[in-house]
Amino acid sequence: MSAAPEPRVAPGPASPALFADVVGQADAVGQLLAAARRPVHAYLLVGPPGLGQQALVRGFAAALLCPRGGCAQCEVCRRARAGVHPDVVEVERAGAFVSVEQARRVVRLAQRRPLEGHRQVIVVSDVHLARLAAPVLLKTLEEPAGQTVFVLLAEAVPAELATIASRCVRIELHPLSAAGLREWLTTHGVAGDLARDLADAAGGSIDRARLLAEDAGFAERRALWRSVPGRLDGTGSAAAGLAAELLASAEDAVEPLRARHRSETEALLAEAEQRGERGLPRRKEVEDRQHREERRWRTDELRAGFAVLSAAYRDRLVAVAGPGPAGHHPGRAEDRMRELSRAVGVVEQSSADLVRNPNEALLLEALLVRLSAVTG
Ligand SMILES: [Zn+2]
Repeated sequence: MSAAPEPRVAPGPASPALFADVVGQADAVGQLLAAARRPVHAYLLVGPPGLGQQALVRGFAAALLCPRGGCAQCEVCRRARAGVHPDVVEVERAGAFVSVEQARRVVRLAQRRPLEGHRQVIVVSDVHLARLAAPVLLKTLEEPAGQTVFVLLAEAVPAELATIASRCVRIELHPLSAAGLREWLTTHGVAGDLARDLADAAGGSIDRARLLAEDAGFAERRALWRSVPGRLDGTGSAAAGLAAELLASAEDAVEPLRARHRSETEALLAEAEQRGERGLPRRKEVEDRQHREERRWRTDELRAGFAVLSAAYRDRLVAVAGPGPAGHHPGRAEDRMRELSRAVGVVEQSSADLVRNPNEALLLEALLVRLSAVTG
């Protein structure tokens, strides 16, 4: 089904309403709104995942494709924002890196003419993982094709990406502050303490805050982590049992994201069917990305849990350090404080180790065994 071409009229400024779903990236939104008027060949959005990249990119694509310059009201704007406009192609990696084959697909896409309008937008994710594909991408970035605008996404700009970055207008995205997230949650009807806990657990990511806010199991999982110091009794079996319980709860935490992925897949299938195609287009890329996001979600969940755990030990430390009954075994209190601050250190080290992505189950078990020495 192809829509009738929109009439060409003098394009106006892009509407900020295109970015209504983006939270806390005012600089980036401002830059993209300005860029939409006279776009250059390529943009590079740099920042950690979970900052609403998809809404940013699709809003920008709408501004670039809309015959009115980004009215936020027409069918072109609607489809671009919904991710179903054929002149917006999102290229995702399948596998650990962007492959040479995927880069070649980008080259071929850049050479084709837009299917509906005057322009097309090619979005390439995870460009920081381009490695062997980088020279191929670079080549197409160096041969501007008038009708194509590239939007590249990267978590960071490693040295080997410098040349690609130099061919693009770079736009920085920033994690949200806990205060900013809390404010957003509060204005969206989340009550005080819960808003604070959610903001802490979201780690600067609006995408994570949004999903956690809808997750009925959130408070219970947090309480489970807080209960750990009181439940370790010095035995290995208690440590192993708790580790299993915490891992299972981290696994449960992924379920809302899985549900979202299932609806995404259904929407993509329905869209393909409408175009007369059978099956999920680019199935491997979609499934790979969903799998990566789920894995990352579980790791973020563990990291948030570790933060709750170290706060629980810190609270105990503060309690021991506080004024106690005079003449009451000061030596014992000091031992206890040393023990508790060691526990805080061990938890923080484990949290840092999560980044290196070892076996999460082993890491958690080893942590709890070490914490077993600190009872109560
Ligand atoms: Zn429009």
